[in-house]
Amino acid sequence: MDYTITLIPGDGIGPEVAKSAVSCIDAAAKKHNFSIKWDTQYAGETAMKKFGSVMPEKTLKSIRSNGVALKGPITTPIGEGFRSVNVELRQTLGLYANVRPAMLFRGIKSRYSKVNLVVIRENTEDLYAGIEFDVGKKHTYELIEFVDKKTGKRIKIDSAIALKPISASASRKIVEFAFSYAKANKRKHITAVHKANIMKFTDGLFLRTAENVAAGFPSIKFDSMIIDNLCMQLVTKPENFDVLVCPNLYGDILSDLCAGLVGGLGLAPSANIGEGCAIFEPVHGSSPKHAGKNEVNPTACILSGALLLHHIGQDRAAQDIERAVGEVLAEGRVVTYDINPKKPAATTEMTAEIINRLGVK
Ligand code: NAD
Repeated sequence: MDYTITLIPGDGIGPEVAKSAVSCIDAAAKKHNFSIKWDTQYAGETAMKKFGSVMPEKTLKSIRSNGVALKGPITTPIGEGFRSVNVELRQTLGLYANVRPAMLFRGIKSRYSKVNLVVIRENTEDLYAGIEFDVGKKHTYELIEFVDKKTGKRIKIDSAIALKPISASASRKIVEFAFSYAKANKRKHITAVHKANIMKFTDGLFLRTAENVAAGFPSIKFDSMIIDNLCMQLVTKPENFDVLVCPNLYGDILSDLCAGLVGGLGLAPSANIGEGCAIFEPVHGSSPKHAGKNEVNPTACILSGALLLHHIGQDRAAQDIERAVGEVLAEGRVVTYDINPKKPAATTEMTAEIINRLGVK
């Protein structure tokens, strides 16, 4: 079986970690008798330099037609029209579900003995909708007047304002996705995350929708938790959680918190799933200060590659990569500075060690 997959190497440390992931995926593919043709495309700073656009149409076309992409982190050049190329990419391609597993590997120093949870984040709306009104602008004054007239509440005249749209349809879609994900991945417990005690209409709608959807899945335990309480519970008893389903902003913050529980950003993979296509990428950014030094941890991008392989149905190849990564981390001999600061291995050395463990003949 042959696959064509879009590869966006990205900016900063992106090309280094993407190269590591591609080598691991290619090695696992060889072992399991399939091959991948990588269709290399660009986005972000590199695309700006090459093509004068941070999100070239050619890149979008490739992702749409291949249906699957592996992406290194990208830098959004300041003042180029988009607040974030990543957010724009997810919205343009309708990648409504962001899946971020956080699993504690043996060998990783941690305050906890067991963490194995998944954050499922709504990816298209909430405060990330990008609807903001700047301080001192005509539209902002008009909005302040409108709010005053309709609600009797006065927003300070020197305010900037952001809108937080939460829809029943997007909430339903993400919660249904979370339940399907839990069923497919044998997970038993979903917690919906909200602040409905304060945001009664927006988070209230998310919570009510989640409760309605949950009623259709009696075999999966469902509960809900207020975001502040959840943060406290996560750092004291992370073993109590399995799947967290969240509106966009809470999901973004919580997934970095969960990455911290299991050893940091260098270990955190993610998937962005839509109806017609999916992008797999590390949670971390392009970390310009480490770029070109062959020193960052490739694990997050390699594990994103494993998520990609699960997505295309190559579970055995994905499991081989997960096992090989687990072995290398557990041994702690050939690992990067974030895991072993006293005797750090290079990105390429850690990658080679993982490939060695894949058992490719
Ligand atoms: P960052 O994730 O790039 O770096 C934060 C710190 O985390 C780094 O200084 C480093 O110490 C550590 N780190 C990150 N990745 C690591 C790895 N693989 N191994 C070891 N340590 C690692 O976040 P930032 O500095 O806030 O953002 C830098 C740029 O990345 C910005 O332009 C931002 O917009 C962009 N960004 C892109 C994405 C994406 O493409 N998905 C995500 C987040 C940030």
